[in-house]
Amino acid sequence: MSDTLRNWAGNIEFSAASIARPASVDELSETVRRADKVRVVGSGHSFNRIADTEGTLLSLGQLKRAIQIDPDSRTVTVDGGATYADIAPTLHEAGLALANVASLPNITIAGAVVTATHGSGDRNQNLSAAVAALKFVTASGEIVSLRRGDADFDGAVVNLGALGVIAEMTLDVVPRFDVRQTVYLDLPAATVIKNLDALTSSAYSVSHFTRWQGTNIGQVWVKALASAGEPAADILGALPATAPCHPIPGMDGSLCTGQMGVPGPWHERLFHFAIGNTASAGAELQSEFFVSRANAPAAIAALHAAQDQFNSALFISEIRSVAADTLWLSSAYEQDTIGFHFTWQPDWVKTIAAVRAVELALAPFNPRPHWAKLFTLPGAQVQSLYPKMDAFRHLAQRMDPGGKFRNAFVTDLLFT
Ligand SMILES: Cc1cc2nc3c(=O)[nH]c(=O)nc-3n(C[C@H](O)[C@H](O)[C@H](O)COP(=O)(O)OP(=O)(O)OC[C@H]3O[C@@H](n4cnc5c(N)ncnc54)[C@H](O)[C@@H]3O)c2cc1C
Repeated sequence: MSDTLRNWAGNIEFSAASIARPASVDELSETVRRADKVRVVGSGHSFNRIADTEGTLLSLGQLKRAIQIDPDSRTVTVDGGATYADIAPTLHEAGLALANVASLPNITIAGAVVTATHGSGDRNQNLSAAVAALKFVTASGEIVSLRRGDADFDGAVVNLGALGVIAEMTLDVVPRFDVRQTVYLDLPAATVIKNLDALTSSAYSVSHFTRWQGTNIGQVWVKALASAGEPAADILGALPATAPCHPIPGMDGSLCTGQMGVPGPWHERLFHFAIGNTASAGAELQSEFFVSRANAPAAIAALHAAQDQFNSALFISEIRSVAADTLWLSSAYEQDTIGFHFTWQPDWVKTIAAVRAVELALAPFNPRPHWAKLFTLPGAQVQSLYPKMDAFRHLAQRMDPGGKFRNAFVTDLLFT
């Protein structure tokens, strides 16, 4: 995070009275114990006020990076400030991999986990589902450990930062694998609507990129296991690109991970943006809404019909699939899901109007908004989309009775 106390996109100025950068878990516990109000900022890649506080803003960037691999349990244990870029190469060298990742590597794992950040793939759950255990620093400064199978665990992983500071996480890992990434161009939206299941199930991870203009989906990014063989010559008539593509038309494809069907390690293909490179546009805003898979073709048709009401605000939009999980506040809680992501131009007024148009188009499908991105749906409506919302509030009340970790964003959204 920069010293000007802004998020990565620059649209949020944090209102923290102070910032603390503890260098050890003991120092972190003591800082939390003394503070009235605390939030952590990870790498600041959220687009709303989820990380904000008027009290103490904690950055865990100066904690010692810890990457402990346990080959027997097929897990890796990392500190609460680590990013995916910090751990991916080490895992790969040890013959291991994460089953899936998001579009970019330089976000903190804790920030991704608590917001249900995801990649794509019909069989890939969101990144929070890889968490096998967690250690929280709670309001009193004490450490609380939870592991998969514990009664509170499913409620505690996706928590919007409202339960405590994650000081350590243990993640499931898998044997490393190679991926071929191929970008196919210009598939008619009508073909996507008709064949969505066939398209998203055609490879390990599939993303559709569209500007919601005209009748075509501009790019289909197919990330296939290298062991599945050579890429298809076409998908439903769409042909492969002959040069590296960037999701945003006109931007430099060489900033992205390797394409054109050349096999490479998982961490050099599953992210869209390569480790060490600039991700996305930079000056931008983002939103994302999730609907059940069953509703997805109708939702694409609804967005297509309404596209003229929001497409002038867009850089690009991405359609991804996420497998169901059991985490209470996950956007894929108990439903296989399709996510509609929107990268907006950095024009606040235009973007908010466009977000409302998208929310209106998706309203019949009860969209769950991405916790870390922009939406205008009221708290009561959002709460009604999560069957375990009451149970989460009780858990938060037990773990943080004084509301030390609650900020205005979380209070308005989940607790009123
Ligand atoms: C260019 C770009 C691409 C993106 N791509 C994707 C994508 O592919 N898929 C997707 O789902 N999302 C995506 N996002 C959104 C991103 O994954 C989320 O904003 C995520 O929260 C970012 O992590 P962060 O470390 O920046 O979190 P921050 O924005 O810093 O914080 C997010 C939340 O995590 C909490 N938090 C952080 N660390 C801790 C901790 N140690 N303990 C407790 N709480 C903590 C904060 O308090 C806050 O509530 C993208 C964002 C950008 C800017």
